[in-house]
Amino acid sequence: MNMRTLFLASAATIVAAPAIADVNIYTTRQPELIQPVMDAFTESTGITVNLAYVEDGIVERLKAEGRRSPADLVMTVDIANLKQIVDADVVQPVESEVLRAAIPAELRSDENLWFGLTTRARIVYASKERVADGEVTTYEDLASDKWEGRICTRSGLHNYNLALTSAMIAHHSEDYARDWAAGVRENLARKPEGNDRAQVKAIWAGECDISLGNTYYMGLMFGNEDQRAWADSVRIIFPTFENGGTHVNVSGVAMTKAAPNRDEALELMEFLVSPAAQAIYAELNNEYPVLEGAEVSELVAAWGSFEADTTDLSAIASERPNALRVMEEVNFDG
Ligand code: FE
Repeated sequence: MNMRTLFLASAATIVAAPAIADVNIYTTRQPELIQPVMDAFTESTGITVNLAYVEDGIVERLKAEGRRSPADLVMTVDIANLKQIVDADVVQPVESEVLRAAIPAELRSDENLWFGLTTRARIVYASKERVADGEVTTYEDLASDKWEGRICTRSGLHNYNLALTSAMIAHHSEDYARDWAAGVRENLARKPEGNDRAQVKAIWAGECDISLGNTYYMGLMFGNEDQRAWADSVRIIFPTFENGGTHVNVSGVAMTKAAPNRDEALELMEFLVSPAAQAIYAELNNEYPVLEGAEVSELVAAWGSFEADTTDLSAIASERPNALRVMEEVNFDG
């Protein structure tokens, strides 16, 4: 049994840190999205990386393990999950000029408690047949009458949509966002159901003309024989806020408070924002590197460029309770 297998096998229980200096990671991301970039790190440094895939309950696990946790780093997606880890007080600040220089300020914590590694934009999937060029403009416009009966989306209570609504509050106000959410709800072709890809399927099937979704799902659909036709029926359009850019969220990393291999973990974090690692990591899930100028995949490049909204993600995260209230008040999913 090699180290990695051992770590994974013992991941269900509390285990002591491996004797040699490895880096141990708890991740909610599929290991295949992470392994290649870790292999590149091991190749360049000789440091082994052990990935433990934890689908749910990372925070509970880190709390239970306390100072004896073998985990050095946590890798997850969405600011809501990163904030949850920070709020649970299971991570430590990381002072690194390399990280600060590579990652735009709005995509990392002010207190150096979490760091964005890649971004994904929340965009509009638009029917190639039924949506004209220039018809999709701003997020605000999704509440206008011209979209009546034409919009599909997943639950308004999902993290992805809550972050978008949070950003709407940050750009305008809670009252504005409530009217907006009510307007979008009025325009729905059907009650929110299913995931982002299910909305694109609905466009393909003619049930609606546009949907909200994350960019990387286009890549996932093209990689799936059954879903390719759905992807083929739509274009990606990058809406913006009236007074801003296109809403983005992150995949990110944080160092645990326990971190038995702090130095190696920091070395890995800094490696992850290097141009080569950024290109590999972003390409694996068709995301965007946080490092300016790092390469994107061919597919991502084909979607064209956009201007990312620069609202601080921490500010967006702090509006989440208000966004949740807004979505419940307008009975978005009802
Ligand atoms: Fe997703």
